[in-house]
Amino acid sequence: MLEPVTKDWEDLSTLEEFAFKFFCDCCHKELTVPKLKFNDGFRRKRRLTPTEEKLRGLVWARDHEAAYERANLFMHQNHVHYCEICGDHICGDCAYVCEELEGGVCCEKCLKEKGYHGIRMWEGE
Ligand SMILES: [Zn+2]
Ligand SMILES: [Zn+2]
Repeated sequence: MLEPVTKDWEDLSTLEEFAFKFFCDCCHKELTVPKLKFNDGFRRKRRLTPTEEKLRGLVWARDHEAAYERANLFMHQNHVHYCEICGDHICGDCAYVCEELEGGVCCEKCLKEKGYHGIRMWEGE
């Protein structure tokens, strides 16, 4: 399985939908990912046979992994920035475009520690 994009994250998936939550490595703000409905193709049936149950489980596991990867990708594209100094994945509130890194991105913690200067990459969420 793919490495999760942030150190803290939660899998809130159920049999009906896939849901993941991630937390900024720096300020631990919750960063949500759009939920995905699980479509097993058996939805119209009220009772499943044991074979169908088993199949449903297999399809769910496969789709769950795909949803997890998609959630991580979504985080990379929409929510997190990568600190070039400590390697943390951070939200827009914690990310700075840094002068000393020549436009590279670092987190607030590193910026202060090194005495660097930068502009906050505010996401305004
Ligand atoms: Zn943050
Ligand atoms: Zn950092």
